[in-house]
Amino acid sequence: MNEPCDSRHLLPAASANPVRGHVSLVGAGPGDPELLTLRALQRLQTADVVLYDHLVSPAIRALIPARTERICVGKRASRHTLPQEAINALIVSHARAGRRVVRLKGGDPFLFGRGGEEMEEVVAAGFDYEVVPGITAATGAAASTGIPLTHRDHAQGCLFVTGHRRQGEDRLAWTRHTGPEETLVVYMGLNEAPRIAADLIDAGRAPDTPVATVENATTPRERVVLATLATLAATLEQEAVASPALLIIGSVVRLYRPAHRAAVEEVFAGA
Ligand code: SAH
Repeated sequence: MNEPCDSRHLLPAASANPVRGHVSLVGAGPGDPELLTLRALQRLQTADVVLYDHLVSPAIRALIPARTERICVGKRASRHTLPQEAINALIVSHARAGRRVVRLKGGDPFLFGRGGEEMEEVVAAGFDYEVVPGITAATGAAASTGIPLTHRDHAQGCLFVTGHRRQGEDRLAWTRHTGPEETLVVYMGLNEAPRIAADLIDAGRAPDTPVATVENATTPRERVVLATLATLAATLEQEAVASPALLIIGSVVRLYRPAHRAAVEEVFAGA
């Protein structure tokens, strides 16, 4: 499908519709359409317009009714991505046209999804909004790889962190918040993975700490690449791991065991 990713096509036609617009910030989950919430599906089915980004899988886009306008507001990093201000303005302009606007975002809107910024804009413009939570990539990946993010024998806590820093930000700041017994899940960490691994080792994490890199979690193209902090950089390069992917770092990775979902599904389907 080739939806426009070019802001020139995106503004709503002027409307005489006096109905007040509403905005729903909806989490699409990590990719598998069965991981959508019932509420997310309901919103998709009743929206007038859906603004989605590249992380929303084709299988989920297929659930948007054909009559519903759909607008792609972001392809992969740096390619055809609308600036956040333009996305905010677009959401508000569709609401102003009296429409039911769904802003569909990968995973959960409030985890590394800029959902907070969009909510602030919608509120400032005086429209009603709601947030529909989604399964975030970390828990989606944990489930499909059988890597629990906490486990009494391995990790007493779990930190979700972005590998993407704003310029000038303290590189090591977040490593101070993590202990040896804690799982780290790094979003947007592929490009910075070599540096992240080095920083963690500098901060005292054992070089043989296991790392699972999960690519395209919960989709048919899911792939898991195992390494240690010491071997991560070389392994990612050798395996040509591509986005979207996240890093699960910590002793829990030793429990890696892909689920036998097909077999279980068959049994439940027959119930
Ligand atoms: N709001 C999203 C995260 C958006 S940030 C959520 O809650 O999941 C984008 C990052 O999320 C990607 O760079 C990648 O690290 C991670 N990600 C999103 N979907 C993923 C998937 N299906 N598999 C692996 N990582 C994913």
